[in-house]
Order: sequence, then C-alpha cells, then structure tokens
Amino acid sequence: MKFDIVCFDFDSTLSAMEGIDALAEKAGFGAEMAALTNAAMNGEVALEEVYAQRLNFIRPNKADIDWLAEEYIKHQLKGIEAVFKQLQNAGVATHIISGGLKQAILPLAATLNVPANQVHAVDLLWNALNEYENFDESSPLVRSGGKAEVCLQLNPNQLQLAMIGDGKTDMEAKTVGAFCIGFGGVVARPLVKEQADVFIEKTDLQAVLPYLL
Ligand SMILES: [Mg+2]
Repeated sequence: MKFDIVCFDFDSTLSAMEGIDALAEKAGFGAEMAALTNAAMNGEVALEEVYAQRLNFIRPNKADIDWLAEEYIKHQLKGIEAVFKQLQNAGVATHIISGGLKQAILPLAATLNVPANQVHAVDLLWNALNEYENFDESSPLVRSGGKAEVCLQLNPNQLQLAMIGDGKTDMEAKTVGAFCIGFGGVVARPLVKEQADVFIEKTDLQAVLPYLL
C-alpha cells in the first residue's frame, strides 16, 4: 500500500458538475454567479467573500439540496465505485474534502461507503421551515488554503496521504506534504496540470488506482 489516507475532491472529481453553479442556474441566477466567479478569478474579490455572496444570493432550501444530491448521483464519474471499493479493501482510509455543500454530498458518499464523519464539506443551516439561514462560516473549506488545513488535521501522525482533485485549492495540499493527483477527466486546468505530481486526463476515475495502491 502506497498511501494510508486518500482524499478526494467532490465537484468535477467524483461528480461531473459544480453544485453551486447548478443551484444558481436552477434559481435563474446563472449569469450573476458567473460574474462573481470571474471577479474571484481575477483577484477582484477574495474567495471567502464570493462564497458568502453566492450562497446569500441563491439561498438554497432543503428541497434544493435534495435535488442537488440526486443530480450529483446522476452525474457520478465512471469507475468511482470500483475505486473506493479497492482502496477500502486494501485498508486505505477514504475521505472527501470539498468546498461544496455537505448535505448534498452525503447521499453519493454513502453509496461509496464513506461515512459522514469522513465527508469534510460546508454545512448549510436551515430554519424550522427548511428555508436557508446561513452556511457554516467557521469552516476552513470556505477559504483558500482550507483543504490543506483539513489534510493536516486528518493526519496528525504524518502518514502517507494523497489528494485527488481538479482545482488549485486541491493542489494546495502539497504544502502539507500530500501527494497531489490532478484529475482532468471533467475539467482539465493548465495550472493544476503544472502543479500536480501526476495529472490524469482519462474520464474513468479508475485511472488513479495505479498511483494509489
Ligand atoms: Mg472540484
């Protein structure tokens, strides 16, 4: 076994979609959300600021999140069941680390035998009528550098840890000693290709297994 702990990003890594963008489109705010995302990419606003702006705009209620959970399952990547099964059979601890919304991720995670305490994502808070109140602003995952912080917390004994994802924030896990696999099967980003220890361009997630086992 090469790794004791393997962590996966979720959006565009385990499911071929971006959850917050999908919620925005469903609510009819696709264009506004794209403008905010662009502002963040151009460095005009901080990631953490955009995170709050986007959610406070969309205000997803519980029914929206149930819808998103189904969409995530429909768009799951080819090969993911085999990947999790083989890692778990080899005794590897499998985690999901995502800046996405935890309640929408849990149902697909459960089909992969990843328990809720190994899903690290952002909690939404609803009122008694299941209407949006807020998100967990204390989560490190709403800030840049947050994924690296979670990797560090997960691995106090400095075991061999790998992180797999499509984004720049996934590759930040390198700063805490993770082996980083860039997954370009959904979106291939040049910056990730440049920063990753290994870059995968196949659409079947099983392409990561030879690097992990
Ligand atoms: Mg992603």
